[in-house]
Amino acid sequence: MTESETFIVIGAGQAGGRAVEAMRACGFTGRIQLLGAESHLPYERPPLSKKLLTGEVGPQTTYLHDQAFYDDQGIELRLGTDAVAIDRKARTLELSRGETLHYDKLLLTTGARVRRLSIPGATLPGVHYLRNMDDCLAIRERLSENARLVVIGGGFIGLEAAAAARARGCAVTILEAASLVLNRVAAPEIGRFYEQLHRANGVDIRTRVKVLEFTGDGRIEAVVCEGGVTCPADFVIVGVGVEAETKLASDADLDVDNGIVVDHHGRSSDDRIFAAGDVTNHPNEALGRRLRLESWQNAQNQAIAVARVMCGGSEPYRELPWFWSDQYGLNLQMVGLPEDWDQIVMRGDMAAQKFTAFYLRDRLVIGANAVNSPRELRFARMLMEQGARPDPASLADPNIPLKSLLVG
Ligand code: NAP
Repeated sequence: MTESETFIVIGAGQAGGRAVEAMRACGFTGRIQLLGAESHLPYERPPLSKKLLTGEVGPQTTYLHDQAFYDDQGIELRLGTDAVAIDRKARTLELSRGETLHYDKLLLTTGARVRRLSIPGATLPGVHYLRNMDDCLAIRERLSENARLVVIGGGFIGLEAAAAARARGCAVTILEAASLVLNRVAAPEIGRFYEQLHRANGVDIRTRVKVLEFTGDGRIEAVVCEGGVTCPADFVIVGVGVEAETKLASDADLDVDNGIVVDHHGRSSDDRIFAAGDVTNHPNEALGRRLRLESWQNAQNQAIAVARVMCGGSEPYRELPWFWSDQYGLNLQMVGLPEDWDQIVMRGDMAAQKFTAFYLRDRLVIGANAVNSPRELRFARMLMEQGARPDPASLADPNIPLKSLLVG
């Protein structure tokens, strides 16, 4: 690592923003260029479906740093810049404007892009997706008393956007393809709890719905579903998942398999090219399998870990996945990515909206979801880290401290 080296980071989101900060914090004195397609300073995404959407906070509160920080740190921030090709042999990058940049090491933090619906009427004005700052600001303009919003998809984007829209007085309908909301990420007990929560807050949730068409004369007026059901809509938000933004990597013949394939240091199949955040398919030691994570924690912490490796460090990235969601004043935190559980143990009171669901496989704690119970979640994480197999009855008993169930 010398002063004459150039590190280029492609993708100025949270992962890219945290990576360049970490490179300087590690003492890297060479050239750093951070390229971003959007025109905004690097920002955090979680508020886009929460307080930024309701208007409780403005865009500036989401920025990782102001421009002066990047200037002071000698980080060249090139916003509104698209990288279109990587020449691995020449170690150069081609930009859409025709410019060519040289790199010594490259970090791809290109994230993910929304999955789009390809049904008739999909491009009608009033059909929105929610992924970036401009999407959020455009939707925010539409959130007004009694405006009719139809949300397609009952994942986190759909549910958080619905809660924000209710806070602004919209009439909200959620259409979900699966039999329950949060189907991809949580147990049915949690999906049912969130359905009840939204219904209690006035949302019309319909599951097992197949959306066929958007109709309207010049702009969206209705969503047509299988079975002839039609939902009138002043606007629509589609939240049906994301796909890793891997085109640059696959065009450059890097290994790609549902994400850029990297090792525990974030190194791709090319020694000089690294990747971090939503775009990576990476090994997770604690879970014993490869993952592609779409999360704030992974975007930030994997990026920092990989930046340190690029600067000569050797510490691998190893963390248990953690997520959170805020809806109607309730805080949900999730640890792990449980699969094939054979028991859900409930601790606390679902009716009082304060409980923790522990996911067990053969009594091993493999995950937990905690509603308004952050302390319990911390203990769940410790139980997981210890590979603990607590007695399920004790786990469920609020009179038995979780601390007493830790090993040793
Ligand atoms: P998601 O978690 O994949 O949820 C999308 C939902 O839409 C799924 O329930 C899916 O059902 C459903 N769906 C798919 N196609 C549909 C269709 N044609 N009609 C109706 N429903 C359909 O994705 P997301 O909510 O769009 O969020 C994008 C990413 O951002 C996710 O990784 C999410 O976790 C992340 N995010 C996280 C947070 C947070 O952590 N608080 C907040 C916002 C976003 P199937 O499962 O049956 O396909």
